Amino acid sequence: MAAGRTTVLGYPRIGQRRELKRATEAYWSGKIDATALLDTAASLRRQTWETLRDAGLDEIPSNTFSLYDQVLDHAVLVGAVPPRFRQLTGLDRYFAMARGVTGAPPLEMTKWFDTNYHYLVPELGPDTVFRLDEEHVKPVEEYHEAAALGLDTRPVLLGPLTFLLLAKPAPGAPEGFRPLDLLSPLLDVYADLLGRLADVGASWVQLDEPALAADRSPEELALLRAAYDRLGSSPRRPKLLVATYFGPIREALGVLAATPVDGLALDLVAGAEDATRVASAGLSRRRLVAGLVDGRNVWRTNLPQALAVAASLLGSVDELMVGTSCSLQHVPLDVSLETSLPEELRGRLAFARQKVDEVVLLGRALREGREQISDELAQAEAARTRRPPGTVDARVRARLAALGDGTPRGDYASRVRARSATNPLPLLPTTTIGSFPQTSEIRAARADLRHGRIDEATYKARMRAEIDKVIALQEDIGLDVLVHGEPERNDMVQYFAERLTGFACTESGWVQSYGTRYVRPPILYGDVARPEPITVEWTTYAQSRTTKPVKGMLTGPVTMLAWSFVRDDQSLAETARQVALALRDEIRDLEAAGIRHIQVDEPALRERLPLRSADQPEYLRWAVGAFRLATSGVADTTTIHSHMCYSEFGEIVDAIDALDADVVSVEAARSRMELVHDLARTGYRRGIGPGVYDIHSPRVPTVEEIEDALRLALAALDPAQLWVNPDCGLKTRRYEEVVPALRAMVEAARRVRATLHPAPAPAR
Ligand code: GLN
Ligand code: ZN
Repeated sequence: MAAGRTTVLGYPRIGQRRELKRATEAYWSGKIDATALLDTAASLRRQTWETLRDAGLDEIPSNTFSLYDQVLDHAVLVGAVPPRFRQLTGLDRYFAMARGVTGAPPLEMTKWFDTNYHYLVPELGPDTVFRLDEEHVKPVEEYHEAAALGLDTRPVLLGPLTFLLLAKPAPGAPEGFRPLDLLSPLLDVYADLLGRLADVGASWVQLDEPALAADRSPEELALLRAAYDRLGSSPRRPKLLVATYFGPIREALGVLAATPVDGLALDLVAGAEDATRVASAGLSRRRLVAGLVDGRNVWRTNLPQALAVAASLLGSVDELMVGTSCSLQHVPLDVSLETSLPEELRGRLAFARQKVDEVVLLGRALREGREQISDELAQAEAARTRRPPGTVDARVRARLAALGDGTPRGDYASRVRARSATNPLPLLPTTTIGSFPQTSEIRAARADLRHGRIDEATYKARMRAEIDKVIALQEDIGLDVLVHGEPERNDMVQYFAERLTGFACTESGWVQSYGTRYVRPPILYGDVARPEPITVEWTTYAQSRTTKPVKGMLTGPVTMLAWSFVRDDQSLAETARQVALALRDEIRDLEAAGIRHIQVDEPALRERLPLRSADQPEYLRWAVGAFRLATSGVADTTTIHSHMCYSEFGEIVDAIDALDADVVSVEAARSRMELVHDLARTGYRRGIGPGVYDIHSPRVPTVEEIEDALRLALAALDPAQLWVNPDCGLKTRRYEEVVPALRAMVEAARRVRATLHPAPAPAR
């Protein structure tokens, strides 16, 4: 048995200085040509391979690079190009599928499992003909490219089962068609591809099947078995390494072990329990890549613990390799680019580059013996276990213990009564989700402040001027509940993270969210507290400019956690309670300052839903608990809003009800108000603002369209429940689109309102 060779499942591809984003956007705007873009891409690939080689990894993956998204690459590779893009070719077609062109809307985009990465959803129908693109077989090309540098890489492909499970039926596909029905023709293409990879000399290929970390039906497991039996029996093929990640694969482990695949990569961080299944899985003639270094978080690995897990696997497999739990694309590139993090915190961090070193070190420990690396181990442990000052805040802990779950709010009917007396609103009140367009002047003001070109007072004056404009505009349009527009916020999570203790923000910690949109998730490392009010000044300023109610805007606990790297030394539930307490204080201050509507955004509530249904109730319990802890301290006369950015409610309808918010606004325009009906069926009785038009598109909706949407919603709702708002915040739109769209929305609400019976108690 061999042990201690090393690999990673994937690596960030965006470049140290976001080179990929710059080049891609320059290409889109016509500033550089395709050759220049492809040169940048090639040099990024080369840098990655050389970095991994120089770090001492034994096996390096290839085909982990993508110009936009790896699922899109795979769809194009196997010929799954929807008819509306077929008259295009090459890069034009590729980017059209990602971003759309006139007359051909893009593929839908959705979250990659429980991460904040978004992939493009392949569209498959009975007419889809899978076929390798003869001119451009990306994994073969990239294999050659690396070979030219003297590297025998392991091409990475999305596995057939996961590819089909991630796809959706093409528009117009007959009722009952399932992408899984196409497994057999898809496998023909995989077999062809495996043959070509073998021909060019690849000795291993990695097939990613993260879908196995979620619940899978017996039928799906049978298809898994059939797929790998078939690929395993291909006459000409490299060795097959099936990689799974984001959780334990449980029964799928035995299924895969019964096929002729040559190796498995398991996530032994999120799927730690699978380690105990290896011994009895029947892998004694296979390779196992033990995913011991976490690809989803930024902390150093507990190396002694990882070595203990590795030791427990020795003897159960033919070759034990050390690897990462998943691709490193979900963590930033390199801690050494950070210059302003507190030193004790920096020492505890491992970004992608540092994680590769950890993998290499673990490999040495297995090969040469732990004693040979005892100095390195001791140093690493000392750095890992050092706690930066401020990690523990006794006051926060004591307050939370005393508060328990907080006292629930009064019943909804009394809240409605209280409000109709103090702050009545018309039926079908109109509002927005919070942000108004982020203009270049706003961005310039923030940059000027950051670089010291203007002082705090000048900055505030500019922001106030912006708020004046936004308030005046909303009054002119005739909206009922106004917002200040969020001009001071760069990002809804980072803005709060920068103002709460316990969070640190990085300078260069970029992670790809989708395409050329990268985010810098804050690092949550200590107890969370709010040293001073965060939003009160802006919100009350806005309120001082109007007699209409202004809605305060906060980011909810789950979203703060979901879009940050979270601490690994206490439960998410506990951390969420700390964030909730800080928000509770902020809400109390807003209320005391006279703000009567407060929105707590939870766009990430759905995305963090555990992949296994058995784990979902516990998650929803603490997620809902944190929301309620944040919001339950208010008077009956205060209206609590929440906002969520998705329309597939399925598993979480009950949780949405349990939030006990007075109004929930959700994405609905694209799904024709379906969720309104779902919610109504479950007996939801509070306010709901189904987005009446899609802000993700520049198109301005007509009054009639919005009227139709409202009438559709009213078919399921009591008019007293219905609020009128767009799908999401307006920050990415331009005023040219926003102004006519909001005018149409207000006019539609007016028309529909006029057809309703004068309400006896038009209140909420
Ligand atoms: N209030 C935020 C905004 O309008 C909500 C953003 C979101 O849902 N992602 O921008
Ligand atoms: Zn939204």
